[in-house]
Amino acid sequence: MKSIPANPDILVIGAGAAGLAAARCLARANASFAVLEARSRPGGRAWTLNAGGYPLDLGCGWFHSAESNPLAAEAARLGFEIDRAPPPWQKDADVRGFPLADQREYRRAWGAFYGRLEGAAQSDADGPASDYLEPACRWNPMLDAGSTFINGVELGGLSVIDYGRYGDSGINWRAPAGLGALIAALGDGMPVVYDCPAARVDRSGTVLRVETAKGRFTARAVIVTIPTNCIAGETLRFTPPLPEKTQAAARLPLGLADKLFLAIDDSRDFPIDGRLYGARDSAAMAGYHLRPFGRPLIEAYFGGKFARELEAGGAGAFADHAVNDLAGVLGNAVRKRLKPVACSAWALDPCALGSYSHALPGYSDERATLAAPVEDRIFFAGEAVSKHDFSTAHGAYRTGEAAAGAALKTPPRS
Ligand SMILES: Cc1cc2nc3c(=O)[nH]c(=O)nc-3n(C[C@H](O)[C@H](O)[C@H](O)COP(=O)(O)OP(=O)(O)OC[C@H]3O[C@@H](n4cnc5c(N)ncnc54)[C@H](O)[C@@H]3O)c2cc1C
Repeated sequence: MKSIPANPDILVIGAGAAGLAAARCLARANASFAVLEARSRPGGRAWTLNAGGYPLDLGCGWFHSAESNPLAAEAARLGFEIDRAPPPWQKDADVRGFPLADQREYRRAWGAFYGRLEGAAQSDADGPASDYLEPACRWNPMLDAGSTFINGVELGGLSVIDYGRYGDSGINWRAPAGLGALIAALGDGMPVVYDCPAARVDRSGTVLRVETAKGRFTARAVIVTIPTNCIAGETLRFTPPLPEKTQAAARLPLGLADKLFLAIDDSRDFPIDGRLYGARDSAAMAGYHLRPFGRPLIEAYFGGKFARELEAGGAGAFADHAVNDLAGVLGNAVRKRLKPVACSAWALDPCALGSYSHALPGYSDERATLAAPVEDRIFFAGEAVSKHDFSTAHGAYRTGEAAAGAALKTPPRS
């Protein structure tokens, strides 16, 4: 591992996808730098947990816009296998939970809604995405649930213009060993100080001083990559304060998405990479990915207010819901075949406080406000500052590289 300099030229705060991408650029440039990470592991919201005999992605799992995703290139470089099978959401779901004729009708409603949204996003007038729902349409609760999966928030909390700026090619790949494991591997050999939450960046002098749980570091430039909810909640403070940054971060909150993995006893009657719906009558709806990679598992996905309620319900609330929900579709006999293996609770995690960012209606330009450097020596990176790839791991990665490039241009200490 590169040694950790006592007073590096550049400090990176956070060892997620953005912080580690920055670190790799700084290492390539032979810069004097260190990464300060609050957790005892790298990756942040990219996290592969080995549980139930498999590497399970509790955070990001998909290389979205895969053909141009820089993390797919990293996977090739580091020898991670890539699975190019189409994602379950691009296929018909299991008819046991959702008759085919209804699925087709829902797909039409989905296409019409997102068509209206994309049209609206071309105008200058921002507003909540829910304004473009067809009143009293029977599919509105499912469209809302879909938004909680994609954006972490119901349509009423989503800026139309920000949503319209998101770029996605529709090509999605995975790594059987885990996208979290890949991103963590970017930290191999990097000078990362773990268990080192940064509490304050003091910018009152010519040198930046960063106070942490492991003492004070000085640097000529700092790259801040922590999630927006941590900036808004001021778990990291600035002296003098940066109210425009805390305000921008509060207007780009992290929505919530959580995953639960259930092991299935004798899974052969479940299709590989299948998709199943449980109850579909409200936005409090879970999505089920059957046998990812052919494994004897179900990956359940929960979003928005529903995920928040289940996190508040304590250990076991996600699994209780999922088992009851699946029994409602597949019959009671399935209960004894399902066993919880792993579950996330991203809102309760103090180093994340949520899953991925969205702009509140009316605040689509706050990503640029958050991204703007301060005094050409404090740089902001992370998924939330990306104009077109926000909410994704590759968006975070790209912003980390850009911030490192800018930090390298700061004048040396005199
Ligand atoms: C359930 C879920 C599913 C997802 N699915 C996908 C997907 O399929 N594809 C995709 O591309 N993206 C997905 N994402 C989003 C993706 O994981 C994130 O956008 C990306 O990992 C964010 O990276 P980042 O570097 O911006 O932030 P983070 O990963 O949050 O990194 C920030 C780091 O800062 C650290 N930190 C926080 N506070 C401090 C402090 N005070 N001092 C020091 N360190 C601090 C944190 O511990 C963390 O390591 C998903 C996320 C979740 C939660």
